[in-house]
Amino acid sequence: QQKLKLVVQRARTSFQTGRTKPLEYRIQQLKSLLSLISDRRTDIADSLKKDLGKSENGTELFEIMKLEGEIRLAIEKLAEWAAPRPVEKNFLTITDEVYIQPEPLGVVLIIGAWNYPWAVTLVPLVGAIAAGNAAVIKPSEVSSHSAKVMEELLPQYLDKDMYPVVTGGVSETQELLKLRFDHVFYTGNSTVGKLVMEAAARHLTPVTLELGGKSPCYIDKNCDIAVACRRITWGKFVNCGQTCIAPDYILCEPSIQSRVFEELKRSIEEFYTDNPKTFEDYGRIINQRHFKRVMALMEGSTVALGGESDESQCYIAPTVLKDVTCESKVMKEEIFGPLLPVITVSGVDEAIQFINEREKPLVVYVFSHDNKLIKRVIAETSSGALLANDCLVHYTVSSLPFGGVGNSGMGSYLGRHSFDQLSHMRSCLIKQLKLEGVNSMRYPPHTPKKLDW
Ligand code: NAD
Repeated sequence: QQKLKLVVQRARTSFQTGRTKPLEYRIQQLKSLLSLISDRRTDIADSLKKDLGKSENGTELFEIMKLEGEIRLAIEKLAEWAAPRPVEKNFLTITDEVYIQPEPLGVVLIIGAWNYPWAVTLVPLVGAIAAGNAAVIKPSEVSSHSAKVMEELLPQYLDKDMYPVVTGGVSETQELLKLRFDHVFYTGNSTVGKLVMEAAARHLTPVTLELGGKSPCYIDKNCDIAVACRRITWGKFVNCGQTCIAPDYILCEPSIQSRVFEELKRSIEEFYTDNPKTFEDYGRIINQRHFKRVMALMEGSTVALGGESDESQCYIAPTVLKDVTCESKVMKEEIFGPLLPVITVSGVDEAIQFINEREKPLVVYVFSHDNKLIKRVIAETSSGALLANDCLVHYTVSSLPFGGVGNSGMGSYLGRHSFDQLSHMRSCLIKQLKLEGVNSMRYPPHTPKKLDW
């Protein structure tokens, strides 16, 4: 505890020197982060191979490209984001200077998850640096290789007092959370999210909670089922289903169910061959604990496709489940693994009802040719994001705020949204000491005559 206290204290003292205030400092730190990624690509890829069996190309596509893109965008746009933002004035302030001045919050605690350990830990850091904060970085202990490499590399490239890395497990995170921060940015599950918010509340510290949940995916029968299933297969089985925005389950009418199975099978084979176990681009479950958890979720449902597993390698084949009901185990928690249950509903009405009876998800997916139906799903459900006719790609659009609502989280980030999320939007009003006559109406005594104009 004493050691952690010192680390946080050092970050705070560094912040108080004011050296994050000039934009040049922030840009220089962001450029260094960019160099880290380009110089140490192999170390990053190795750590992800060891943690999650990720292929080098998969790492490039799903972790590195986004991270580099976010850094470049922040460097390019920082001056614009950090500039005063003039606002509309009212009659009383017509001659004044009235604007919003974004300012750094102070010391941000970033707690990362293990599924895309580099992206989910360092993309928030990009926002923290851009906004002029100090940040204490706590990578997930579950992706231990990535955490170790982060701990080793970040201090070589960044201001190490300002952006220290703390490794360790749950108890270290809990100890950190006892300390005072100016913002906590947490990525992980909703149960721990509540603990994080509770701990932060003791210091009145605001939080961003990037959580998960069960993201539903409705396939309308008026739809190109082959294309829909290919895109769903991609979104579901990438990183072995361990993606917060992966479609969790499919809802469709009974009449198209067998077509859906056929097309999912075709896509799985097209992407991962008929033996995904030996195929480079198919990953592994993070550890034995999660392997056992995911395997247990299959109980009580029928395997329609896949189902093979190998505990010694934490391997679970891309698996599609049928005969699933609301009572099935697989519908009781976020799957976060390569199982795709298909549940039949009578149509879009029942699908909407099904979605609304549950916690607000991170994403609602809908596949349809019918634009009206898509708009109806948008109007009648709520979720962090809605995607029609594709999966995951909203994460690539930095101008869209990325985050959840309700049980799937609070706050959002990416691009300018990260900057705004980790800044205080300070209201500034500068009046001149002249024109005092104009103010007489608001000073007592409040005679009717004064108000009569
Ligand atoms: P995890 O187990 O790595 O936990 C995340 C962090 O929480 C770790 O740093 C850990 O030290 C800390 N932690 C764990 N238990 C704690 C406790 N009791 N008290 C204090 N801190 C604790 O990650 P996870 O939760 O298994 O991650 C998977 C979840 O994250 C899924 O629900 C997924 O949907 C979600 N997720 C969300 C996003 C997003 O951007 N919304 C991104 C990735 C993952």
